[in-house]
Amino acid sequence: MKREREDAAGALAAAGARAVAGAVGLKAGLAIAAALLGVLFFLGLFVSASTPAAGGAQQVCAASGALRGEVPANYLPWLGRAAAKYRLGPRGFSIVAAIHKIESDFGRLRLPGVLSGENFAGAGGPGQFLAPSWEAYGVDGDGDGIADRYSVPDSVFATANYLRASGAPGNWRAAIFAYNHAEWYVNDVLEQAEAYQGRVVCRLVGIRAGPVELGRIDWTDTSGPWGGAQKFAELAVRLARREGCSVTSAKRPTESTLSGGTSDHWEGARHSYAVDLGECDLSFPDGAADRVARAVAAAFGLPGRTGVVSITRGRYRIQILWQTYEGGDHYDHVHVGIRNLCCAF
Ligand SMILES: [Zn+2]
Repeated sequence: MKREREDAAGALAAAGARAVAGAVGLKAGLAIAAALLGVLFFLGLFVSASTPAAGGAQQVCAASGALRGEVPANYLPWLGRAAAKYRLGPRGFSIVAAIHKIESDFGRLRLPGVLSGENFAGAGGPGQFLAPSWEAYGVDGDGDGIADRYSVPDSVFATANYLRASGAPGNWRAAIFAYNHAEWYVNDVLEQAEAYQGRVVCRLVGIRAGPVELGRIDWTDTSGPWGGAQKFAELAVRLARREGCSVTSAKRPTESTLSGGTSDHWEGARHSYAVDLGECDLSFPDGAADRVARAVAAAFGLPGRTGVVSITRGRYRIQILWQTYEGGDHYDHVHVGIRNLCCAF
């Protein structure tokens, strides 16, 4: 962490080597308000991120392994789209990510000129653009009508744009040097990018399939196998099949979850039924499995779709596990568990 801060400070200092600054960024106040309302900001980005591109397809990216916790979720979709738009090749994603890591810790460094205003050298925003550079290369990445130096998507697109204009992907060293005129900076970016390389999966996700009629869901209806739970789990399966996902596991011999609870999958749990839904595009957000999680949460009235989300309705406890290690690895499938609350196991 110390070294990162030193890198960032060095980068800020080296920014003085770039062109001279002038104007103040737009929407600085809005950026601060958005930071204060972090949750809203996050949701807003995701709404924008899920807007389909022309032709109904969109590029979505998901981190895996060690990178998962390193690149913030509000960055992932924009990095992939920006690298694709400016044709930066297979290293584009990781190099743009590395630059934003080093420049501002993905917009999280609390130094002058990150969230608002400018630092002493005139740099502003998560990509630390000087005003003249922003004039020339700033991009309205999220399509809100403003190329905002302090917006994550706009800044990510502008970085990609600048790199492309400066010789990437043909000559990455020259392009990164153009971004910040220091050899140590080029080396740091490439080293950081190497750590990110190959750990993010981006892909095009096509047009979604049509609606599924689930009928009326009555959570007081306890008829049917497994305490009545199976029939509700089957509704989740229908939503999964629409998106091209399938059931990877239902009932099984294991009694306990990895976190020590009693599994709704357990054969001995006679009043519950769980399904694991996967074997499809696992990109997050907006991949097929994520769309399944979203659809199940909406159909069953769950307040969210990621982490461990539980709700009691009628005679049942309904639970979804997605994008969490709680109870097991729930990054490679969506778990939907229905438990009739009638009885002990
Ligand atoms: Zn499961």
